[in-house]
Amino acid sequence: MKTPKKTARDHKDSAAVGWCAVHEKRSYDSRKRARNAIRQINGERMRAYACDAVDGQFHIGHLPDNVRRGAITAPEVYRP
Ligand SMILES: [Zn+2]
Repeated sequence: MKTPKKTARDHKDSAAVGWCAVHEKRSYDSRKRARNAIRQINGERMRAYACDAVDGQFHIGHLPDNVRRGAITAPEVYRP
């Protein structure tokens, strides 16, 4: 006996909460949600990072090398 299929609306991506027009990516309202979305995309080496255009918004994906270097190492390497 088959169970009735759920509608497309019931199956929407509950983790994504918006769309960032600046970066043309899905956006999430917390790093935790972004990480959770990454776990559902098994096989891809992705990371959650804060959107630099909208406060409190997060994306998942591969950072460009220059952004990654600047965002992570600059404050630690170039101490005043
Ligand atoms: Zn963004």
